[in-house]
Amino acid sequence: MNNFEYKNPTKIIFGKDTIGKLAKEIPTDAKVLMLYGGGSIKKNGIYDQVKSALANVNVIEFGGIPANPEYAILMEALTIIKKENITYLLAVGGGSVIDGTKFLSAAALYEGETPWDILKNNIRSTKGMPFGTVLTLPATGSEMNSGSVITRKETKEKLAMGGPGLFPAFSILDPQVITSIPKHQIANGITDAFTHVLEQYMTYPVGGLLQDRFAESILQTLIEVAPKVLKDPTNYEAAANFMWSCTMALNGLIQQGVPGDWAVHMMGHELTALFGIDHARTLAVIAPSHYKYNFEAKKVKLAQYGERVWNITNGSIDDKAYAAIEKTEAFFKELGIETKLSDYTKDYEGTAEEIAKRFTDRGWLGLGEHKSLTPNDAEKIVKMAY
Ligand code: NAP
Ligand code: FE
Repeated sequence: MNNFEYKNPTKIIFGKDTIGKLAKEIPTDAKVLMLYGGGSIKKNGIYDQVKSALANVNVIEFGGIPANPEYAILMEALTIIKKENITYLLAVGGGSVIDGTKFLSAAALYEGETPWDILKNNIRSTKGMPFGTVLTLPATGSEMNSGSVITRKETKEKLAMGGPGLFPAFSILDPQVITSIPKHQIANGITDAFTHVLEQYMTYPVGGLLQDRFAESILQTLIEVAPKVLKDPTNYEAAANFMWSCTMALNGLIQQGVPGDWAVHMMGHELTALFGIDHARTLAVIAPSHYKYNFEAKKVKLAQYGERVWNITNGSIDDKAYAAIEKTEAFFKELGIETKLSDYTKDYEGTAEEIAKRFTDRGWLGLGEHKSLTPNDAEKIVKMAY
């Protein structure tokens, strides 16, 4: 096992009817900017619950943060933060609103010229304006981690940022919020969380026995609850297990002391930037090809995953590893998620070359847990995913 230091300062408030606890978490003298997305919270009652909890708090609002939070729109929010002397941010939404809020938390205290540099130059944020979240969509784990991914339409870029200053102070997780989420978005959430675990687990084994079993248990739980939440989002026990699994998939716990891959996400981000494909769907497109392409390096772990998560008991290591990739792809398809780029766009020719060029231009010459996946490898993987 590798050495590690682990601190996660986010307070989780989990359970039925917990949104009302909001005001207790925000300093009484705070001037709050409440951030939200395209308006789903106004239809499903979450907006009203938040507003009534904040009845005695000094709060102004900024709505309209789109899925794949857009830099230009966030810059409008940044102007308000400065003009109104905001001291505290509250994200009410899914990963996009929370990630956008993290960007604003960093940008509000950033002393450089243009906040885009935080993304472009991958500047780690050690401080940020304090913020909390009310999660409306289980998927990303953003509610309990310090990472964020921001999109810039103008240049078709989607880049990641983060740092120890960007953990939410608190996150409220009421599983009842899932009752209003469209089915395809629930499927996205399951797929994103599942892939988060795979990215941290499907690496060369370094003896992290507990980390492996944490990871496998999250995968097993997601597989178990997926059909239940899709069939009946009012099934509270299924919703609660789904929500907590998504948080645990990317709150840092399972990645301590073990290598992380993340190449699937890096290639997937480019597909969202180029074609606007939902984040989770890009992962379902890339992951099977990634594991096939890197079969030799990953087959021991793939076979372990096949045995322990999918109960594949017959055959050699190679047989089990290959069957495990097939099971994974079939799982995504059962959720209604297509796994080829051509299922999403007819305009895919040249995508692999474009992604390889972007990685080269940015100096991303070695991705993956061994920093050995070259732009040329990425090109081949993306081509396999056409
Ligand atoms: P999202 O983009 O936040 O939301 C997707 C859609 O779901 C939006 O249209 C939203 O509508 C709707 N929605 C949210 N909650 C709802 C509810 N309770 N009822 C009905 N509709 C609801 O989705 P996401 O998958 O959570 O976030 C994706 C983003 O997170 C991507 O940009 C991805 O790259 C990023 N990400 C971040 C991390 C991280 O660790 N930080 C990890 C993985 C992915 P409204 O806009 O109207 O609310
Ligand atoms: Fe993700």
